[in-house]
Amino acid sequence: MIPNNSPWIHQLKRSRSVVPLNANATADVAIVGGGIAGIVTAFFTLRDTNKTVILLEADKIAHGATGHNAGQITSYFERPLSELVEEFGLELAIDGQRSIESAWTLIDQIMEEADLRTPLYRFTGYTGLSSFDQVLRHLKDNHYREEGGLQTEAMIVAEEWEERKNIPKAYAHLYGTVAHKDMLNLLETNNTGYVASLAFQKGCMNSALFTEELIGYLVTKYQDRFSLYEGSPVKTVRLKGADGSLGVLAHTVVAGNIVLCTNGFEHFSISNEVGPEIDTAFHHSIAGRIGYMSGYVEPLDNPPTAVSYFPKTNERNGDPTGESYFYLTRRPHEHEGKNLHSLVCAGGPEKVLPNGADYSRTHAYTEDMRDIIDDFLRSNYSKHPGPETKYAFCWHGLMGYTPNGVRRVGFEPCNPVLLYNLGCNGVGILPSVFGGKRISELLQGKEVSPSIFDPHDQTI
Ligand SMILES: Cc1cc2nc3c(=O)[nH]c(=O)nc-3n(C[C@H](O)[C@H](O)[C@H](O)COP(=O)(O)OP(=O)(O)OC[C@H]3O[C@@H](n4cnc5c(N)ncnc54)[C@H](O)[C@@H]3O)c2cc1C
Repeated sequence: MIPNNSPWIHQLKRSRSVVPLNANATADVAIVGGGIAGIVTAFFTLRDTNKTVILLEADKIAHGATGHNAGQITSYFERPLSELVEEFGLELAIDGQRSIESAWTLIDQIMEEADLRTPLYRFTGYTGLSSFDQVLRHLKDNHYREEGGLQTEAMIVAEEWEERKNIPKAYAHLYGTVAHKDMLNLLETNNTGYVASLAFQKGCMNSALFTEELIGYLVTKYQDRFSLYEGSPVKTVRLKGADGSLGVLAHTVVAGNIVLCTNGFEHFSISNEVGPEIDTAFHHSIAGRIGYMSGYVEPLDNPPTAVSYFPKTNERNGDPTGESYFYLTRRPHEHEGKNLHSLVCAGGPEKVLPNGADYSRTHAYTEDMRDIIDDFLRSNYSKHPGPETKYAFCWHGLMGYTPNGVRRVGFEPCNPVLLYNLGCNGVGILPSVFGGKRISELLQGKEVSPSIFDPHDQTI
């Protein structure tokens, strides 16, 4: 049995004891969920309004997806941009992409204003592509980025790759060519199946440490109007015309607005006293996937990086429309009290959580997942130390996928007392941060333009 052991949780130095809600309470805004989405939503709401805020976390801060992810900061959707253009039109899709990229600056602002020390490494990251379809799809995305006025992602294609001549002429200015071996060097692989590579800004951060540090700042800075309760699962959400109430343990929290930052819709019900019922359809629209990762510690011989590898056959388990891929990060890591190490993490294999089934963070990590990752690393990552590698960390986390793969941020159309900043969707650090800022703008009554993140009416 391998325990679920995340390096991000391992690095948390919690000194705060868990204080559950012990009486009825009221607040202008109640935020449910203490992952990065909930805490950043609290940050911007407290900073930019005078509202009182109460935050309720079922377990402990940052112990959900935020504490069990791959810790890679990246700005892509887990869906081609071209599909978002088809669904929403060019303007909205590009605006959505721009919003996600704007979260880099928001993270900088938060770190500076709250004087956070969580290390954040920025660098050019790479994505290895191995089929003509993948290359074409990314070129199409790049074409839309160009048309929409976004900086294009740099693409290089191996000179020796025969199929290169089939790339449409219209895309010729969107890629360059280099010797195959140089491209493989960038991808840190000896696997000659990779024929093209994208290069774009990426980063690495322990999002749990960031979240934990930020909550420490909020608790101290806003003592007069912010309260935090951990070990406080919300069981019921009742919406009325002017406010709503939450059933938490044996108590009730009444708030003018309720913001769900719960990643999905597990273990609570929503009832709407002034309009159509909204919970059932919505509940079932978030699909759970368990992502598995492994990490090993090595001497600090190489700079931080993030590389995604798209193998040739990559139909996603249980979802022929999705694409599976492996992702690798390498970053400096404090080990045995010394900062002279790197942590190399890789993930990719997933299991679908059947509808209605319970996910538990304490479930053991299965050996077959570690073996899949180990096999992948050995045949794709040229710096892998070899067969005897000991994985110091093996962990899994739950990703809630919205049907269209886009995070939901905004008012519930059937009752605006309720708001959402949720839907982890595999890549969620930047979207959660952007979502937190947008929620605070909505709570201030600011006019915001329609966006691809707007929740739609589930009753229609
Ligand atoms: C395996 C995996 C790998 C990932 N890799 C990356 C990556 O490399 N890059 C990236 O950008 N994103 C990645 N993500 C996604 C990213 O981690 C998430 O999108 C992000 O952390 C979401 O944060 P959140 O606050 O929305 O959710 P969470 O961190 O899950 O927080 C939700 C919180 O709500 C609480 N909660 C739920 N229900 C209730 C309730 N009823 N009452 C009170 N509290 C409740 C939970 O206990 C939890 O703490 C990955 C996710 C996983 C699982």
